[in-house]
Amino acid sequence: MTNSFETAKYQLDQAAKLAQLDSKKIEQLKTPDRYVEVSIPVLMDNGEQRIFQGFRSQHNNARGPYKGGIRYHHEVHLDEVRALSFWMSFKNAVVEVPFGGGKGGIIVNPKELSSLELEKLSRGYVKKMFRVLGPEVDVPAPDVNTNGQIMSWFVDEYKKQTGDEKFLATFTGKPIENGGSEGRTEATGFGGAYVLEEIVKRKVLNLPKGSTVAIQGFGNVAIYFAQAVMSLGFTVVAMSDSKGAIYKKEGLAIKDLMEHKKQYGSVKGFAGAEDITNEELMELPVDALVPAALENVLHQHNAEKVKAKLIIEMANGPTTPEADKIFMEKKIIVIPDILANSGGVCVSYYEWHQNMYGEKWTKDQVLEKLRKQMEKAFDDVLKIKEKYNTTFRNAAYILAAERIIVKM
Ligand code: NAD
Repeated sequence: MTNSFETAKYQLDQAAKLAQLDSKKIEQLKTPDRYVEVSIPVLMDNGEQRIFQGFRSQHNNARGPYKGGIRYHHEVHLDEVRALSFWMSFKNAVVEVPFGGGKGGIIVNPKELSSLELEKLSRGYVKKMFRVLGPEVDVPAPDVNTNGQIMSWFVDEYKKQTGDEKFLATFTGKPIENGGSEGRTEATGFGGAYVLEEIVKRKVLNLPKGSTVAIQGFGNVAIYFAQAVMSLGFTVVAMSDSKGAIYKKEGLAIKDLMEHKKQYGSVKGFAGAEDITNEELMELPVDALVPAALENVLHQHNAEKVKAKLIIEMANGPTTPEADKIFMEKKIIVIPDILANSGGVCVSYYEWHQNMYGEKWTKDQVLEKLRKQMEKAFDDVLKIKEKYNTTFRNAAYILAAERIIVKM
């Protein structure tokens, strides 16, 4: 099953059956509340007009305003955005952030656009969408290929269109000088590392110092996760990007690897490490495997070959249901995305809160709060896991669904 929306609904069904959750409410949760599709005309630098397609899926707002990123990608499609908005509702409920789930996207390869074209496209998205956005309605954020600069254009256009006083709180992931929060950049990676720390502390698995980790990806999430787990005493032996992967049994020096990537445009060819493929990375003899790049990378054709005893899903939707089943049979522990990568949305909520109430928190305050929130979420999920003697994924879904249903 590689349709993410089908995967998301299947995951919810498994949990709902186990905990005998209200079937009518579960059916409602399988369809987003609202789905908006817009055409965005952009006058390109060469004088020609191009029309881009933009989306926003608002899944559920029982627990608070819809919340979730906007991605710019040439392969964005309806079911992907629906699935991502669905996962956001559940993620926010797992970590008890008072938001619902949303997600948006534009079909575009932003690398083909000039900065001016990108600005026109971003402002165009808000011109068409502003009526369904707002600090207490729907609060977008960055996702794949969108960043702080794009959030600043969104904010500025939203302010022009609406005059809303709370314009800053309508988008999170902004640059710090434009209302962003300290600690947002590190949040998702660090949040995942706090979860790993809990796994060790709570003896879910025996992972002594020096235990090995392979990470797919070398972006924001992967890099901060790697740095944080290394400081906990783990050895990161493999990382990758879209061009390939590298492996070094003794461990990678992440700072040097960042320099290498800056110079050569890829992690490949890093001194002292062996070049391997992204597929080989998944099958390495490591203690923990961490997909931190793409969806559907653990599937029925490679799940049997996975040797790790722990998988931490830092990407959204990296495991297909077929692979999940194989991991269950092999007793490989999977920490689901809706728990593992929820650190990002926690700090997005802190940013929203600071903007709403005119506060400014330090990085130490943010990270301390984040750690406590991730620990609490892990503990809540663990209790349900033990109660139902089930997987972390089912437990996280049961916990989240109960928290949403009670407000519906
Ligand atoms: P990013 O754009 O910073 O990094 C993505 C990484 O994936 C890059 O290193 C890229 O080279 C790599 N990649 C792309 N294609 C690849 C391929 N075919 N094989 C291997 N690697 C490939 O993105 P990010 O913010 O680090 O997000 C990574 C994942 O984490 C995504 O699934 C995203 O939805 C999820 N996530 C991100 C956040 C966040 O706060 N950034 C929060 C929750 C979930």
